[in-house]
Amino acid sequence: MLSPSACLLAAAALVAPARAWVTASQSLWGAQISEIQAAMRKEPSGRQPIAEYGWLWHWPEDADDTRGLGGGITYAWNPKLCNDIEDRFKEDIFGGGLIDCEDIKAAVARAFDKWAANSRFLKFLDVSKECDALGLNYGPPHTDPQSDHPHGGCPLAEIWVTTLVASSSTGSSRRLFSSVGNLDGISVQGQAATGLAVATADPIARFTDSGSAPGTPFRYTNGQFAENADGSMRKVVETYGGILSFNAGSDICWYLDSYFCSGFHQLKQDFGSADDAKLFVYGWTLGLMAVGILGYSILLCNVFLRVTVDTEAEDDEDGDGHFTFRERCNAALRELSNWNPLILTLFIMLLLIPPLITVKIFAPCFDCYDFEAAALHEIGHFLGLGHPDNIPDNWQAYTASAYEQDARPTPGNNSYHAIIAADLLNGTRPDAARFCQDPWAEVQAGVPPGAKIDTKKLNARYPTRDAQMEAQTQHNPRACLQTDDLEALAVLYPDCGNYALFFPVCHLVNLHLGDTRMAFYILAPTIFALLFVIGCNSCIHAFEKREKERRDAKHRKSKLRLEASKDQHQKEAKKARALLRFSVAKQKVKGAGAVPPAGAYPEQVSCTVQK
Ligand SMILES: [Zn+2]
Repeated sequence: MLSPSACLLAAAALVAPARAWVTASQSLWGAQISEIQAAMRKEPSGRQPIAEYGWLWHWPEDADDTRGLGGGITYAWNPKLCNDIEDRFKEDIFGGGLIDCEDIKAAVARAFDKWAANSRFLKFLDVSKECDALGLNYGPPHTDPQSDHPHGGCPLAEIWVTTLVASSSTGSSRRLFSSVGNLDGISVQGQAATGLAVATADPIARFTDSGSAPGTPFRYTNGQFAENADGSMRKVVETYGGILSFNAGSDICWYLDSYFCSGFHQLKQDFGSADDAKLFVYGWTLGLMAVGILGYSILLCNVFLRVTVDTEAEDDEDGDGHFTFRERCNAALRELSNWNPLILTLFIMLLLIPPLITVKIFAPCFDCYDFEAAALHEIGHFLGLGHPDNIPDNWQAYTASAYEQDARPTPGNNSYHAIIAADLLNGTRPDAARFCQDPWAEVQAGVPPGAKIDTKKLNARYPTRDAQMEAQTQHNPRACLQTDDLEALAVLYPDCGNYALFFPVCHLVNLHLGDTRMAFYILAPTIFALLFVIGCNSCIHAFEKREKERRDAKHRKSKLRLEASKDQHQKEAKKARALLRFSVAKQKVKGAGAVPPAGAYPEQVSCTVQK
């Protein structure tokens, strides 16, 4: 028997049409498009105010008013965050970090700027140094909270950027809100999910008519007020601060060079799963190493055989018929000298470079989280956006809390703006004047007809358009806002001026961290391999020099012996000839008159020269 909430979930999974952006109100509280349209028309929606369209920043009418978006949104960086998180960046060279605190801060600043670059209402100011100067730049989780702002950090800042104290029992890869503070004494809990939270954006919100609020109506960026039909102030949830937290736990790792790492994440989609992509890369790594190991195995085998059973006559240097240890060592060197140094270098490179690239280059991209993309995503939550790809995971019905009734009867829908989507699909710039005064009137559920849908997205509940607000941090190919995010921004913060932006602006920075490390992890082993082979070659060269000297000495010795034998032979021949002449003369003297016939005495005396 299914519980009521399980039935609701099952039904939600069946009816969720999916596939485009979603607001936090829809995602968390199940606000329906028709209800939001009614609220925009200042009609009653029939919902509790907490589940009405809200979680947005106020746009003040007065230029001097700093409420909400007025004067920009300020943020301060908890100075302890760098110490906490710096070691979690794995873009190093053998432990030597290439990233410092300024690089990490710059990544968060770029994330804020990417939102600001796509709407003229958004502006973010880093007030960390002002906070430092005032001695107020401290706060949770390292110290007790300060009392001047609900986030407890520097009171100059509306958003406190700090370390996430993660609980293993709550969170997911990308939570929506872990908690949304205290609304009129109502402690609102965020989603309860299992898994690991790598970063969170916890908006600090208030009801517009609460004691802490200015008590004036919420004003949208198109100049419309959140009012009832009678002109009275409508009670909506207004975001006015937040806590942006990054996990610095030992089970988390981050990378900054999203430009370089995005290609590795593409492999996940190409192979259909992260595990298969990893298997492919590790398989290639082991395969290449195996070639190197095989090459050196053959070499060592040949050397071993040469010094044991396959010794040759030349290895018996002293000719005594026995192979001494030294002669066997020389035999090994003799065998080594037959191998091409280039081949030996290549084998060492195959042994070293693939594992280094896999462990030090591939893994930090593949297994770690894109820091800038995570910041970009979380800032989207502060602005009132939800996850387009995991409805109804963030729906409050999951929690079965006291506010369950607000989330009934159905979860929110993915939404799209019919005019903006159609114009962009046709390649034309939408005319904001047609819809900016009531942008929700043209919002529909689902996906725009003809929109490009990514059906291969990993771990997706259903196909979606590409969006930075997707729940999966690890699989983002780029730290940029997508058309889907910008369309949502145009509805949440409508711009009725001529400067409304509909085509995403993304200022990419190539940090070259990946290229630098790649160059190092290829060049260093190559240099090592060359030095190693050169060292071996020096030994072989010295051995060959010694061999040459040994052979020269042997040759000289043989030559001397030959010459000595020749001299001896000549002396003996001379002696023989003298003896012959003496014999002939003696015969003549005896007067026998008989001359010995030709050939009776040899002209030369042969002798054998022992070489
Ligand atoms: Zn999220």
